[in-house]
Amino acid sequence: MGKESPFSKNMTSSPAETYIRRIIRDWADTVVIPMRRHYDEDWHEHRLIEPAFKALMVDLGFQKAMIPAEFGGWNFGNTDYLATASAWMFEEVARADSGIALAFGVCYWPMIMVAVKPHINRRLCAEFAPMFVDTDKPVYGVVAMTEPQGGSDIENLDLLHGQTIKTTARLDGDEWVVNGHKLWPTNTGGLADLFGVVCTTKPGSDDDEDVAYIYVPADTPGVTQGNAYEKAGMAADKNGDVWFEDVRVPSWYRAHGPGLDALYLKEVLTLGMMSATFSIGPVMNVYEILRDFCSQKTLNGKPLKEHDAIAAELSEIVAGIEVSRAATYRLAMMLDRQDKYGPRWSPEILAKARSTKMFVADKCLEGCEKAMEIMGAYGADRDWDVEKHWRDIKMGQLYEGGKQLAQMDTARYYFDCETL
Ligand SMILES: Cc1cc2nc3c(=O)[nH]c(=O)nc-3n(C[C@H](O)[C@H](O)[C@H](O)COP(=O)(O)OP(=O)(O)OC[C@H]3O[C@@H](n4cnc5c(N)ncnc54)[C@H](O)[C@@H]3O)c2cc1C
Repeated sequence: MGKESPFSKNMTSSPAETYIRRIIRDWADTVVIPMRRHYDEDWHEHRLIEPAFKALMVDLGFQKAMIPAEFGGWNFGNTDYLATASAWMFEEVARADSGIALAFGVCYWPMIMVAVKPHINRRLCAEFAPMFVDTDKPVYGVVAMTEPQGGSDIENLDLLHGQTIKTTARLDGDEWVVNGHKLWPTNTGGLADLFGVVCTTKPGSDDDEDVAYIYVPADTPGVTQGNAYEKAGMAADKNGDVWFEDVRVPSWYRAHGPGLDALYLKEVLTLGMMSATFSIGPVMNVYEILRDFCSQKTLNGKPLKEHDAIAAELSEIVAGIEVSRAATYRLAMMLDRQDKYGPRWSPEILAKARSTKMFVADKCLEGCEKAMEIMGAYGADRDWDVEKHWRDIKMGQLYEGGKQLAQMDTARYYFDCETL
């Protein structure tokens, strides 16, 4: 697809980044991009998507990324570049397919609670690491938060402190008994292997001590996954209902215990905001498509890009990409440098993470829409993949509490709001 992207060039600051980007780009250009046109129809079966995912996660080994070295993984959670390296990987994967990037990111999302310094739970790492490293299959991790009565309230931890969580965890001897109904978690719809389940030990309580994060292997009796939903985009991510009916797991499957589960769950949320890259990757690819289109397509004898009105729009699109990337890599740096910016679970970091992701998702969607307008009818033609990226980026605005929670978490910190 023409010359190298200027966006990859200006971020290649270390040999590790160059290497990781090159590996993923080779996979993207040979395995995913030639086939992604057909992913929408593959949303249920995953006949095309599953082999592409396996090539990334197992053959290239990326599913080991979060696991500590002593348990056979790549140790990313134990480094000072977890968020930054995640951004390199997710951006490159999302350039090919944002749904695969989401599924990939969520595979290691549940392990953040126990595999990231300074709160590594070695017993739980020893228990679950082999699932990810000693296998020739993709392993699907899940963070199950959203419930039928609303996902935003559950993620609104600084205001509601778990008050609306309906999924219960009751201690019975040396076992937790989990009951509840979750909706929409990524990597469900029959795929899930390991859940991190957000529960309450005291329904209705607004005490952080009663928020529990409990690991549940998907093959535990009492766990039922419903069928995948058919949704607008991101076919490579399956979402569905999950029911937990008298599910019993050992008591030590709780991540850390009263108070600490709620605290580190906030870190799961802030690191989750690196999902800004799931919007940036697609619009970087839209730029590549647009560059070819505007050079080749002529209007009144001149390439499209040489017309003032079009050039102005093109410049806005790349400005949006540049600023989105600058903001996202700044966020990654702040998440990685806790010594300088404080813990990832602070309201300040949450506000910075939410506002960055909100801004980036909006800006990338706007850029994609501009690209469609410039391309005219071709922008809506599925053969060009731009409308696919547009649908995928739209999804990125909706999850993690949607735009309103991002606004509330942001305003709460910057304006000292007391009732939001
Ligand atoms: C592609 C995709 C992947 C997802 N992955 C996961 C996952 O991995 N794990 C998981 O648990 N969930 C996941 N979800 C669910 C997602 O996190 C929730 O949809 C989201 O948190 C919003 O929750 P809700 O849909 O229940 O909407 P609600 O919380 O019911 O909100 C409905 C509307 O009200 C707005 N709103 C909420 N609170 C307020 C308020 N106080 N004031 C004003 N407006 C408000 C919301 O922004 C929204 O517009 C995923 C969803 C999608 C689309």
